[in-house]
Amino acid sequence: MPDFDLLVIGSGPGGQRAAVAAAKLGRRVAVADRPDMIGGVCINTGTIPSKTLREAVLYLTGLTQRDLYGQSYRLKEEITVADLTARTQHVVSREVDVIRSQLTRNHIALLAGTGRFTDDHTVAVRDVTGQDRLVTAEHIVIATGTRPARPDSVEFDDRTIVDSDSVLNLETVPRSMVIVGAGVIGIEYASMFAALGSKVTVVEQRDAMLDFCDLEIVEALKYHLRELAVTFRFGETVAAVERHPRGTLTVLESGKRIPADTVMYSAGRQGLTDELDLDKAGLSADRRGRIAVDEHYRTTVPHIYAVGDVIGFPALAATSMEQGRAAAYHACGEAVNPMGHMQPIGIYTIPETSFIGRTEDQLTEERVPFEVGISRYRELARGQIIGDSHGMLKLLVSTEDRRLLGVHVFGTGATELIHIGQAVMGCGGTVDYLVDAVFNYPTLAESYKVAALDATNKLRQIGNLSG
Ligand SMILES: Cc1cc2nc3c(=O)[nH]c(=O)nc-3n(C[C@H](O)[C@H](O)[C@H](O)COP(=O)(O)OP(=O)(O)OC[C@H]3O[C@@H](n4cnc5c(N)ncnc54)[C@H](O)[C@@H]3O)c2cc1C
Repeated sequence: MPDFDLLVIGSGPGGQRAAVAAAKLGRRVAVADRPDMIGGVCINTGTIPSKTLREAVLYLTGLTQRDLYGQSYRLKEEITVADLTARTQHVVSREVDVIRSQLTRNHIALLAGTGRFTDDHTVAVRDVTGQDRLVTAEHIVIATGTRPARPDSVEFDDRTIVDSDSVLNLETVPRSMVIVGAGVIGIEYASMFAALGSKVTVVEQRDAMLDFCDLEIVEALKYHLRELAVTFRFGETVAAVERHPRGTLTVLESGKRIPADTVMYSAGRQGLTDELDLDKAGLSADRRGRIAVDEHYRTTVPHIYAVGDVIGFPALAATSMEQGRAAAYHACGEAVNPMGHMQPIGIYTIPETSFIGRTEDQLTEERVPFEVGISRYRELARGQIIGDSHGMLKLLVSTEDRRLLGVHVFGTGATELIHIGQAVMGCGGTVDYLVDAVFNYPTLAESYKVAALDATNKLRQIGNLSG
């Protein structure tokens, strides 16, 4: 008889949810992780610290209030790193506490240490003293996540040349900053530092950024970042990063040289699989450390699952949690619905943006006819009250059956508002539901009704003309 029914390697969102789901189904469960990493990248270095920092930036800079009180409005003139990080430690430790308590309440054994396979049912968990404990399990879930990828050619010192982990330990707010990589993390940090007044240059190899998002919204985001003095260098590759006593010089292959106090690399992440001895379990990972899985999150060894960032896109805490639950249910023989394409994407830039479903470009490429309904926050009473004049919500509506095909939101509350669209889409609702619904007034949620009216007015016009 194995020691546990389910052993989870990694206590991030994917691992936690897998463990709790299996425990709720009455299984004997254990989770292995380093004691200082309970809650994973999500709680310790990723989502939670960055979003707490963002909240502090918004509050202290008063940026979102400037439409109301004037461009010089600030809550605090000199914002220090101590101001910015004051809440982070508090929030992180409270979150770690919550997770520990959840694991304990559900009788999940927490094994302190890093795990590696010795065979396909056995994991050796090495504690801080170097002692190995062999643990056997009927099913195993790999939820080891990722770490920032660091090119060998760059000398990181974690003070002036940092990645998305060590950026949290900066001692001062840089006056100028180069961010290499215009992915979600790079652009989120670019907007935070730009809001703080740093002169930010974003260097991106590709010609575009966030190309999985709605093009119009990405354009709006770029416009806003440029307004905050962000410079974009698209289609440019970094040849070298030089560290000098008074700052850094980022040299591009095109010959440009960009001086800055700090350089932050945010050019992809590497799956944490190199220390797992995957081969001992009959598994392997790709060049970027990622593990391939099927629709049930099973690896090529059917009783071993992998969830979260270690399996790749979309690499979000939100999806990792659901993957963890789905894997545990499958391992326990419990029915679970597939996630499908109904996963929201939230990007906490300043302003934030979020979407669900397909984009205009995708629908056009797939030759799916659609109509667009738009609502702008400046036309909503709530938009005026909060001083958000740039926000917008866009509905993509099928001209064939009037169902929602996509919802895209930009501006205050986007990552919350998206869930209204998600609920309607998830229940197979049409745009008419939103036209008929009464929304609280004055709210930003009202933008759904305004956009729905816009879309249905256009649909009516098409109907009238085509008879
Ligand atoms: C800066 C930043 C901001 C982000 N913002 C957001 C956001 O706003 N919203 C969002 O949804 N997502 C966000 N993400 C992504 C989110 O953090 C990840 O998608 C999520 O943490 C992945 O969860 P996971 O379960 O794969 O495990 P992770 O959170 O990656 O944790 C993996 C855990 O496995 C442990 N581990 C690794 N190897 C071993 C081993 N051999 N033995 C034992 N334990 C091991 C690690 O110590 C770690 O604790 C952000 C990420 C970053 C870096």
